Formats: sequence, structure tokens, C-alpha cells
Amino acid sequence: MTAETRLREEICRVARSMFDRGLTHGSTGNISARLEDGWLLTPTGASLGTLDPARLSKLDWQGNLIAGDKPSKESFLHLGMYEERARANAAAGAVIHLHSTHSVAVSVLADVDPADVLPPITAYYVMRVGTLPLVPYFAPGDMQLADAVRRFAGRHHALLLANHGPVVSGSSLAAAADATEELEETARLFLLLQGRRIRTLDAAQVAALRAKSST
Ligand code: ZN
Repeated sequence: MTAETRLREEICRVARSMFDRGLTHGSTGNISARLEDGWLLTPTGASLGTLDPARLSKLDWQGNLIAGDKPSKESFLHLGMYEERARANAAAGAVIHLHSTHSVAVSVLADVDPADVLPPITAYYVMRVGTLPLVPYFAPGDMQLADAVRRFAGRHHALLLANHGPVVSGSSLAAAADATEELEETARLFLLLQGRRIRTLDAAQVAALRAKSST
């Protein structure tokens, strides 16, 4: 089995698992991963629950379709992430974008810090997500969203699009999936804790975790 065939199957397995657990719905959400000669992306209009490995879109680094079905209309989110992460010497192996309920709910809240939306409530959140900036809202298809994502992507591997959902990159598909799920679960905890006094990790505890996760 070639590396590309393996990766195609892994994308479909991860996508199915996320869909089956309600992490995205309908035909929302898209997943991509880097190949030696381009990148793979889930097609437009496809449900993450029923993807066919042979029909994934294969694109070049200009965003042109090389093979497979027409790519997701949100391909620019992925391309922007790959290019800006590479420019920042933090090359991404995979990117995941979902409309996961709790993360979307947090993306709608009025009184959050747009520089870092969620507080550091658990160690795993700090290690896998870190800081989470809020990318301003733009309507679907508005290319200003692509520019906005690029402005943040060099410094952050996880972004939250306002009134829309998360975009998360990782060194591998497994790493991107782990970080995406950690973000969704932390958003869920954050919403559960609304209205209660909470104790977050303090600055020294966060700094110690960041030093550890960057080694
Ligand atoms: Zn979306």
C-alpha cells in the first residue's frame, strides 16, 4: 500500500469517527493532509460520515484540482494554514475544520477575549491547543476570511472563526485530530462552567506546560 493510499484511508477513518460522534453534521466540516506531491482534501458537499478514499480531492500548492471530486469550498482555509505554518517553520501535516457544536457556541459569545478565547482550564488544553485567537466573521465565500486566517496562522496552529467554527493544524493527521477534539471538549467544559466561579491554571503553571510541550 502506498503512503498516499494509507493517508486517503486515514482521512476517511478520522472523518467517519468525528461524524459518528456528532463532532460535525450534515455536509459540514473538511479535513486535509499533506502528500509528497500536493495535498488531499475532502470534497464539497460530502458528508464526513460517508467519504470514499478514491474520490478525495487531490490538489497542488496553487489550489488547483489534480484528481478526484471538486474540493470543499473552504479549501482556502486549509491552503492558508499550510502556507503560513510553513513560513513560520512549523509545517503542518494536516488541517481540520469542523462546525463542532460547543466550539461554535463559544465562537458566538460576546464577552470573550478575542486574543485568546478559552481560559487555561486543563493541562491538556494548554499543551494541545495553547492560545486560541478569534478570527473576525466574514460571510461564506468572502475571500477576506482567507486573508484574516493568514494573519493569525503563522503564530497559531488553532484558530476559532467567529460565528463559524475551529480550524486546527497539526504535524500529522492524528495530532490535528487530537487538538481539534481537545478544543471541542474544552469549549464544552467552558460552557458547563458558565455562571460559576472557576480556578484556571495560573501563569506559572501555563508557562511550565508550554516549555514542556515545545521540547
Ligand atoms: Zn466552515
